[in-house]
Amino acid sequence: MSVPSAFAQNSIEDHAAFVSVLCATITLVFFDVPFISSLIFSLAGLLLIANQVSFSHQLAFIDGLTEIAGRRALEDELKHLGRRYTLAMLDVDHFKQFNDTYGHETGDDVLKLVAKQMAHCEGGASAFRYGGEEFTLLFKGKTTEHCLPFLDALREGIANYPLVLRDQSRPHDDEQGRQKRGRVSDTKPVNITVSIGYADASQADTSNEVLQLADKALYKAKEAGRNCIKGSA
Ligand code: GH3
Ligand code: MG
Ligand code: MG
Repeated sequence: MSVPSAFAQNSIEDHAAFVSVLCATITLVFFDVPFISSLIFSLAGLLLIANQVSFSHQLAFIDGLTEIAGRRALEDELKHLGRRYTLAMLDVDHFKQFNDTYGHETGDDVLKLVAKQMAHCEGGASAFRYGGEEFTLLFKGKTTEHCLPFLDALREGIANYPLVLRDQSRPHDDEQGRQKRGRVSDTKPVNITVSIGYADASQADTSNEVLQLADKALYKAKEAGRNCIKGSA
């Protein structure tokens, strides 16, 4: 396993194996150097502890499915906000129906895609998976007026993204499948939409209250017909 691929695997076992092999190799190559064994042994111990700490942090703060920050990371951020910020709550529209139609696995792919689009949202936003099919965006140092164009661009980007799904009627038979594969009719683009509610720091005393206001605004967006953005004011 190459060095970059060992670290790209994101598995603590791979990291530990890599550190062990590296340290054993250094010890053998520099065997003549005084105290090399104890030096490298200590270094290996430190590296493994650092790995463990980094993985524990990752488990606690990063959402396993979407690989963006999770609820715990958001709660942490909410404790350390300044006087100006905007919070937006985003919820995938009719997602239960989407799961029922295309399957839970495809639904998971949609959540990954939404998270990816959110991570690329402009305006310096930080994206979090709040839970289920709900996400949060935090714009530090920005009022709602500043954020609105970025939120609308995000909503529009998601709504216009053509999700190319495997044809549900695709034959299980290998030969028929080979014949159908690659044809335009093998895939069919679908679109999903999201609703967004937002509020800013000037509208409440605490960040949790601002988040609740954004959540209420999200329900206004749902009531207004979905695929839209509503503020709490
Ligand atoms: P609305 O437009 O009002 O938000 O309708 P909705 O169907 O999106 O809302 P509802 O709360 O009824 O359903 C949420 C669905 O989200 C149900 C649940 O199966 C799905 N869901 C939650 N978490 C996950 C997940 O991690 N993966 C997948 N595939 N589905 C999830
Ligand atoms: Mg929901
Ligand atoms: Mg929903």
